[in-house]
Amino acid sequence: MDGMNFSDLKLERKECAKCGATWINGKHIWRGTGASGDSSELDLAGLVCNNYGDDQCINPMKGKTGGETWEYRAGYIDGMIKGRMDTMKGLGNLDSDS
Ligand SMILES: [Zn+2]
Repeated sequence: MDGMNFSDLKLERKECAKCGATWINGKHIWRGTGASGDSSELDLAGLVCNNYGDDQCINPMKGKTGGETWEYRAGYIDGMIKGRMDTMKGLGNLDSDS
């Protein structure tokens, strides 16, 4: 009995030997989260492949910029820390002078 054809459901899994990124059926999937997006290959390039990848890297967006980068993330985190500090300073001011 072979009435069902599962060939369309075959998963093609590729893994970048350099950065360990995974593609399933040609779509990049983030490790850990399993998330994927239209710009995820570009983000991956900015975060990993442009820094650590080489000729073996299979990310088609490797070498391209414009995605999310560590600089962007660092700036985002710096901004959050500054916000916290300002809030704490504000609380400190409330405690003094009273
Ligand atoms: Zn790569």
